Amino acid sequence: MFCTQCGERLADTARFCTACGKPTFGDVSAAPAPKKLRRVLAERKLAGVCAGFAEYFGTDLTLMRIIWIALLLLPPHIGLIGYIVAWAVLPAS
Ligand SMILES: [Zn+2]
Repeated sequence: MFCTQCGERLADTARFCTACGKPTFGDVSAAPAPKKLRRVLAERKLAGVCAGFAEYFGTDLTLMRIIWIALLLLPPHIGLIGYIVAWAVLPAS
């Protein structure tokens, strides 16, 4: 990334510009949009919960579906209640 004040090239992890001292944090234009957990209706099979979790955790959608099904089938069966809760509370987009 580059300093927004003086244009000095900075390490991506730098919190202050090495040339002028301007803080790099708080500059929303330079930071990627924060990931939000959501339901992805475009890729949904049912409610988009699996697609949303796969997107949030950066995992494969198929793998996420397998994990959900495993949580659903294996004791203590938290998959069903988890899915219903996620369905109810997550924003759809
Ligand atoms: Zn600077």
